Amino acid sequence: MMTAKDIMHPNDLKTIQVLQKIPCIDSVCRKIMEYGYERIFRGENLGTMVKASERCLPRVYTLMKRTANRIGIGVPDVYVYNDPVMNAFTYGETNPFVCISSSCVEKLTDDELVCLMAHECGHILCKHTLYNSVVNLVQMFGERMGIITRSMSKPICLALQFWSRQSEYSADRCAAAVSGERVFQQMTMKLASGLVDVQGDPYQLVHQAQEYNDFENQSLWNKIQQNCRMAFYSHPQMVNRAKEIDRWKNSFAYKKQRLAININ
Ligand SMILES: [Zn+2]
Repeated sequence: MMTAKDIMHPNDLKTIQVLQKIPCIDSVCRKIMEYGYERIFRGENLGTMVKASERCLPRVYTLMKRTANRIGIGVPDVYVYNDPVMNAFTYGETNPFVCISSSCVEKLTDDELVCLMAHECGHILCKHTLYNSVVNLVQMFGERMGIITRSMSKPICLALQFWSRQSEYSADRCAAAVSGERVFQQMTMKLASGLVDVQGDPYQLVHQAQEYNDFENQSLWNKIQQNCRMAFYSHPQMVNRAKEIDRWKNSFAYKKQRLAININ
């Protein structure tokens, strides 16, 4: 069974450890989420998307079951929504769910779809949505009580975007641990290109990351431009996600997880 610490990126872990120091914050936020957005979104999903089950969308349902079992978490509800953009997201703490765009279901192979699902399940395992709502709550009450001033809001927002990007690296590690780093790279190539059949080298984004970093380091101006653009992103660039997993594949943690997955 995988634990959050097995796959968490060190910067993600550090932020969550700070948030965990606030007394009772987990249980308070869990309740707020359960009665707030979690129920709103559940109603919205049931009202507008197609819920996968053994009777309907059995491929999606079976693959989600397989993914959750490999990780060792409860099987989340899974919905498919109509969107030509390849994307997926998760929400919820008491009853988490995963929503996957129709384009992903159509364009990804079974292994790649498991990889995408494992990324979303990685967010569930690490309780990212819970801690995201903890941060929002702290920010909201901080501002109301005058602890956080307006001038502090922007830096806090940028810090949150930084954490959000680090949490994506943790979820990517979960995906690579479950499906293998090569499948992760194939899936990332499809997400970046939107193509069903990406021919050639599945490690293209890893090579491109080198080219991107060289470009970034060519001048101070390039570095400032790229860093300013990235500061507002909630997700890291695809090339950096590919590079990070290519680096992590050599770690003991990755090899240990792959061994455990292959034995089970
Ligand atoms: Zn994610």
